[in-house]
Amino acid sequence: MPDTPAVTANGYCTNTTPVPSTIRTVNAKNTGPKFFHLHGRRYVECPCGRETSLTERGNLRRHKPPQQ
Ligand SMILES: [Zn+2]
Repeated sequence: MPDTPAVTANGYCTNTTPVPSTIRTVNAKNTGPKFFHLHGRRYVECPCGRETSLTERGNLRRHKPPQQ
């Protein structure tokens, strides 16, 4: 698969560039206090198919591809 990002020896995806059109911000206002800590977080998809959160710099957080 040519578009699949590489994976490190310990199984983490090496790609840190999010797919811009997939960015979404978590709205936890209606889910109650249990999930309020998630409120305002930005989640985005990696080309490997995994959804993960964004760092302050707009890069993907370290994650493992969905096959793992
Ligand atoms: Zn990935």
